[in-house]
Amino acid sequence: ATPTSIMVGTGKGAERGILFKGGEFLEGTHKIDTVLLDKTGTITKGKPEVTDWIPLVEEDQLLSYLISAERGSEHPLANAIVAYGEEKEIEYKETDHFEAVPGHGVKATINNENILVGTRKLMEQHSISTSEKETQISALESEGKTVMLVGMNGTLAGLIAVADTVKETSKEAIHQLKQMGIDVYMVTGDNIRTAQAIADQIELEGVFAEVLPEDKSDKVKQLQDEGKRVMMVGDGINDAPALALADIGVAIGTGTDVAIETADVTLVGGDLQLLSKAILLSQKTMKNIR
Ligand code: ADP
Ligand code: MG
Repeated sequence: ATPTSIMVGTGKGAERGILFKGGEFLEGTHKIDTVLLDKTGTITKGKPEVTDWIPLVEEDQLLSYLISAERGSEHPLANAIVAYGEEKEIEYKETDHFEAVPGHGVKATINNENILVGTRKLMEQHSISTSEKETQISALESEGKTVMLVGMNGTLAGLIAVADTVKETSKEAIHQLKQMGIDVYMVTGDNIRTAQAIADQIELEGVFAEVLPEDKSDKVKQLQDEGKRVMMVGDGINDAPALALADIGVAIGTGTDVAIETADVTLVGGDLQLLSKAILLSQKTMKNIR
C-alpha cells in the first residue's frame, strides 16, 4: 500500500461520511465477505414509539407503575415507554428498588408492589405464565413490533408494544451488499418474530435473534471460526465487544460514544448504503497499489 493512495482513499471516504480511523482499516475493508447488522438504531431509526398499551387487570395505577419502573432504565425501549407516559401526563411513583436485567427488561419495587417489564423469559423466570396471551403477543410481533410484558405481583398485568421504523435506505443498502456477493445478517436481542418481520421488510434472509448483549461478539467469533471475514455494524453499548472483535467494526455516527470509540470506521449519518461504498473504495485503493 502506498501511503499516498491510502491518504487519497481515506480523504475520499471522509468526504462521503465514511471515517476510517487509520489506513489499515481502509486496506482491510475490501477483504470483508460477511456483514452483521445490529437491528435497533442500525437497520432501524432507533426511535421506538409505543403503538399499543393493553392492560389485562383492573388496576388504575398500572400505567403509572410501568412508567415509574422504566424511568430507571436508559434503554431506547424504556425511553419510548416513559415518553408515552409523559404524553398521557401520568404521574410517577417513587421507586424503592430498581434493577436492569440486560437483554430481558427491568425489575422494580414500588409501594411494595413487584413490577416486572420485559421478555417472556423474564416472566417465566418469575413463574408468570404468558401462554394465555400468546396469540395476541405473537400477532403484534408479526407486525414487527416489540412486545414487552408487564408483570405485577406474580401475574401478567399488561402488554405494551413499541414500533421502530426501518431507515429509508436500509433495504437498498442490503441489496447493494448482496450484489457484491457479501453475506448479510441481522443480529438482535429482540425476539425472532419481530426480527423476522423487520428482516422481511428489507429482504434480509439471515437473522440471529434473541442474542443476549454479551453474546453478540460470540456470533462474530463463530463466523470467523468458519473462515469468514466479518464486518460488524452497530450503534449501542451492547455492540462494542462485537465491534472490537470483528475484522472491521463500523459504528453508526448517531450512536453511542462507546460504539464510536470502539469501532474502526464511523458512518457519519448512519446511512447503511455507505457500507458498499466503503468496500468499493477499499477495493479501488488496493487496486491502485498493486
Ligand atoms: P436490542 O437492543 O437488540 O433490542 P436488548 O438485548 O437490549 O436488545 O433487549 C432484548 C429484549 O429485552 C428487548 O427486545 C425487550 O423485549 C427486553 N428489554 C430490554 N430492555 C428493556 C426495558 N428497559 N424494558 C422492557 N424490556 C426490555
Ligand atoms: Mg442498536
